Amino acid sequence: MHVLVVNAGSSSLKLCIVEPATGARAAESTVERIPAGGHQAALEGALPALLASGGVKLAAVGHRVVHGGELFTSPTHLDDAVTDAIRGLIPLAPLHVPANLAGVAAARAVLPDVPHVAVFDTAFHATLPNRARRYALPLALAEKHGIRRYGFHGPSHKYVAERAAEHLGAALEELRIITCHLGNGASATAVEYGRSVETSMGMTPLEGLVMGTRSGDVDPGVLLHLVRQEGLDADGLDRILNKESGLAGLSGIGNDMRDIEEAAANGDDRCRAALHAFCHRLRKYIGAYAAVMGGVDAIVFTAGIGENSALVRHRTAQRLEFLGARLDEELNRDCEVTRDAPVVEISPPHARCRILVVKTDEAHAIARDVARMVLDLGAVGAHKPIPIAVSARHVHLTQDAVKALFGPDGKLTPRKWLSQPGQFACEERVTLHGPRGSIERVGIIGPVRRDCQIEVSRTDEYALGLDAPIRRSGQVANSPGITLQGPAGRLTLEEGVVQAWRHIHMQPEDAEHYGVKDGDVVSVAVDSEARDLVFGDVLVRVKSSYLLEMHIDTDEANAADLNAGDAGMLALTRGTVRLLRKDVTHAEV
Ligand code: AMP
Repeated sequence: MHVLVVNAGSSSLKLCIVEPATGARAAESTVERIPAGGHQAALEGALPALLASGGVKLAAVGHRVVHGGELFTSPTHLDDAVTDAIRGLIPLAPLHVPANLAGVAAARAVLPDVPHVAVFDTAFHATLPNRARRYALPLALAEKHGIRRYGFHGPSHKYVAERAAEHLGAALEELRIITCHLGNGASATAVEYGRSVETSMGMTPLEGLVMGTRSGDVDPGVLLHLVRQEGLDADGLDRILNKESGLAGLSGIGNDMRDIEEAAANGDDRCRAALHAFCHRLRKYIGAYAAVMGGVDAIVFTAGIGENSALVRHRTAQRLEFLGARLDEELNRDCEVTRDAPVVEISPPHARCRILVVKTDEAHAIARDVARMVLDLGAVGAHKPIPIAVSARHVHLTQDAVKALFGPDGKLTPRKWLSQPGQFACEERVTLHGPRGSIERVGIIGPVRRDCQIEVSRTDEYALGLDAPIRRSGQVANSPGITLQGPAGRLTLEEGVVQAWRHIHMQPEDAEHYGVKDGDVVSVAVDSEARDLVFGDVLVRVKSSYLLEMHIDTDEANAADLNAGDAGMLALTRGTVRLLRKDVTHAEV
């Protein structure tokens, strides 16, 4: 089983056919100097040879997409609507996103019959808490332009953190790790118990550490000063900050750390200063992130400089003893990471904070994400686990209902794409008024449907004063009515309130795997951390466009102690379910 990983830059195209389970490459190819609009020709030229490599069985294509903005916080199936939504993010990364989309368009045209999945650089950092996300700018201005910290290098930070946890023999959820991705672009991330809680790159990949040619942090007042004193405009500042700064600007001899180290060793003062500034900035971030997490169990160095420069690691790790982090100089000097031996520990035995060098592999990281999504790589025999999505109360609306609630020009605005293809949570919200009480700010799931449907939990029904039947989606006949309130008006429905019949979406291959068919009713065991539970009466729904996933409501999730995450609707939880047996026959599947 293979995944083609496409990394499309403005003038280059990196293609890599990866076996997701191991990271082994079946074939790779890089096309440089592609003219504008030439991605498809480049792909058509390179692909036949790649696919002809022995034994390639292409299951999906994974696309690296640099920016997911607020909309995309997990790998997402690429269809036309999702591609359009990504196009809307171009202002956030005007150089990268158009190139990424050119790669998507080219690959979808050449390989129309396999699923295409976008993997976002920003997604791993979607867990940044608000306090870490915000710039202290006027809120209205920040919201208008989507100005906040998003973070980048997500697949790499996640990958090396996972690798580090494996090496340490502990669950990622039990560790506080600082990952330092030091390549031409460089960023550090605080991974607290498996979640990114701070990261050094911000709205763009310009903030944070000293990089090859990028400045990283500068006093914003410096920019004003340059505008005033040098008469620089946006393009001029862009060039200086992105292309002429960082190691290149400081050293005067370019951005290659190998050259800088060599020149510094030969007494070049500028190069020594560049090296010192690079390591100082990084050490400062490590200290800050240890404070953010209240401690640190491991520091990970990765990417071109992190994996190869013993000197940078040595200088950075100086004075970190107070964190319990110390280098074994010999291990550091002799360290060599390879694809076969990707983790080397360079701290002494029993160190309180371990220091690791981990070989990153972004293509493998992307392939794994794609495989987890498309193929459910976690499958093991008949007990292939099923991801759970928790549905908070929500409504589905018709076009007419949208107009009644949000005005004649009202429409549903995607806020977040959900895991089932084509479905999205909307910016818009409504209030539900029942005979006993009301519930405000209820989410809407788009796109519009033929009938309105209001899905609530049993607890919600008590609050509203209703008694709604348990139904499969779409079956609203003879259900209670309700009044919806939007900013532009009220709408009273004669029927439409249901409790969703808990169900599993699956593709025909999954159904075959479990030995079930559409409409079957099964039991599933929920393997949660604190309250394992077996649900009976679970409906099986089979369709080739579905993604394997069990949907339960918030009452059901609470009973099994599963958290929906702060995003609310249909957020994937960490729990998984195992299909146990058919309810009707009680036969083991
Ligand atoms: P990346 O963007 O991850 O490919 O990393 C590129 C950076 O890694 C460049 O600045 C290289 O100079 C640096 N690099 C690669 N090998 C070494 C090495 N042996 N010592 C120091 N820096 C290195």
